[in-house]
Amino acid sequence: MIFGVEVNRLMSNSYTRLKSGDWAVRAEGVIKEGARITVTKKSGETKQETVSKVLWSGLDNRTNKPISLCLVAKESRGRRGNHAPYGQSCPYCGSRSCSRAWDEGALCDED
Ligand SMILES: [Zn+2]
Repeated sequence: MIFGVEVNRLMSNSYTRLKSGDWAVRAEGVIKEGARITVTKKSGETKQETVSKVLWSGLDNRTNKPISLCLVAKESRGRRGNHAPYGQSCPYCGSRSCSRAWDEGALCDED
């Protein structure tokens, strides 16, 4: 159900789970490393991500349009449960476990 419904959405980049269990982004077009892309979550919200690595580019076998499978820079995932060093906290939500506490260039997790 989760997969069948979203397939025909046009021109939207979406999160996809790899066999390894990591999250990647399936993006429209040929994407280069370092690109900023807008990804649509299942909820319909969008999020800006930075491509850290392109795993694969090629033609989608359903639409015959170029797509890229990309890893995005880790922001919140993988750091959850950890805290930034004392004195470093997110100026938006005040949390030391927020991505923004770790990295001034990161987005607040509560955005
Ligand atoms: Zn925050």
